Amino acid sequence: MTMIPLLPEVAQFIARTQGLRIGGKEVETPQSLRVLNPSTGAPLADVARSGAREIDLAVAAATRAFQKGRWTIMGPDARSRILWRLADLIEERAAIFGQLDALDNGKPFAVARDVDAVWAARHIRYFAGWPDKIEGATIPVNIPDRLNYTRVEPVGVCGLITPWNYPLLMAVWKLAPALAAGNTVVLKPSEETPLSVLYLADIALEAGLPPGVLNVVPGLGFEAGAALAAHHGVSKVGFTGSTQTGRAIVEASAGNLKKVSLELGGKAANIIFADADLARAIPGAFWANFGNNGQSCTAGSRLFVHADVYDTVVAGLIEIAQGLRVGPGMDDPGHDLGPVISERQMEMILGHVDGSQAQGGEVLAGGARAGGEGWFIPPTIIGGVSDDMTIAQKEVFGPVLSVMKFTDDAEVLARANSSIYGLAAGLWSQDVTRVRRMADALQAGTVWVNCWGETDAASPFGGVKQSGYGREMGREAIALYSQTKSVWIA
Ligand code: NAD
Repeated sequence: MTMIPLLPEVAQFIARTQGLRIGGKEVETPQSLRVLNPSTGAPLADVARSGAREIDLAVAAATRAFQKGRWTIMGPDARSRILWRLADLIEERAAIFGQLDALDNGKPFAVARDVDAVWAARHIRYFAGWPDKIEGATIPVNIPDRLNYTRVEPVGVCGLITPWNYPLLMAVWKLAPALAAGNTVVLKPSEETPLSVLYLADIALEAGLPPGVLNVVPGLGFEAGAALAAHHGVSKVGFTGSTQTGRAIVEASAGNLKKVSLELGGKAANIIFADADLARAIPGAFWANFGNNGQSCTAGSRLFVHADVYDTVVAGLIEIAQGLRVGPGMDDPGHDLGPVISERQMEMILGHVDGSQAQGGEVLAGGARAGGEGWFIPPTIIGGVSDDMTIAQKEVFGPVLSVMKFTDDAEVLARANSSIYGLAAGLWSQDVTRVRRMADALQAGTVWVNCWGETDAASPFGGVKQSGYGREMGREAIALYSQTKSVWIA
């Protein structure tokens, strides 16, 4: 096994303790965070650890930048150009971003470079087109001799809190609309994966973003995250993470009644009907769950298969699982799947697998830690799962798929909807009437039909029920980071 050589920029970046990025400067802290490499379990890098004091400093820098208005009242064309330039720089340095995410997240380097970094650039480019399209309206009011119009304004300082599964991409999903709408930002990446977002802060300055517009403050959730969510200088929190943390953020936001948008957990139902094109549905359903090693909020982890095709589908899934290679993110040649993010997460996932067996499930593939120093779990498929089993209800957030049998459309719809979550759902069928009926009735923010996982910067993304509220992409994302003022002129 050989490792892909580190790019000199990456080697230099991880060789020294990275400071916080506040007001365009690097800020050291008394304590640091040790970032581990999940492919080896070994220490990878140290970064500064933000506490409440540093969050104060970052919010103050973002407030100054907002009030000075160098970004907020900059002409829309100038704002677009900076965002466009930032997208170009991310694309030019996709290999650097890819190596940083492959190292601290563990995902295969080629995926981190060609998917995460390239999509991040594409996302920013879409929002770079927005600044000159954020329009108000003139309103035909009843009071005579009055002009009433609306202005769509930025909300102010936005606190963005992101998870570890797509370190760069999740940050960019929030950052791009927040900046396009004219806000300034304090971004707290996950303590597990802060590297690519720190590098992004440097690139943003290079692209021409005024200092203080983007501040990056790695830190622990209960320390830095909680301080940011509660801060009275923050007007809006955009959060992606677990439903449990989402609840804590809503509570913390009550102090100054800041706006909150939440992209939370999921337990997506994926349904294969008897009339599905199985040649597409089987690999489609496999990757619906095992893409990003199952560490996706949209993972199709509850797979319902019609009884008539159940055995064929299960056999196909097992065959794919057994043919995959699992290995380090920086391995050369690359692997299909990397490690899970941490030892704690690995133990939690394997605990779910053991629990499912105790409740009557049958491990059909994988099921135990794979060899090597890192935190590897091969793709794990559990058959004989019933709706009341813990594995069918709790988000596992790892490479574990539950397969369940059904016989009837109404039955499977009710079962698919019987979850506290509602982020995504999917179905595989050739019957257009069934497809329409099911797509309407599935309780989810996104429904995929004969495909899975597609997103686009222009198409709204978000959850219903306990998967959160707010839509992150498209015009709705601009609304999420704006507020409307009504002006009356006599
Ligand atoms: P997490 O909730 O543990 O952490 C997410 C972020 O919140 C991290 O930056 C963490 O430091 C911070 N945090 C933790 N406690 C906090 C607190 N009390 N106050 C403020 N911030 C706090 O989630 P995770 O383990 O990093 O990510 C996995 C979860 O994220 C899964 O549940 C997954 O479904 C969800 N997720 C959702 C989406 C989506 O778009 N809906 C996307 C990716 C991940």
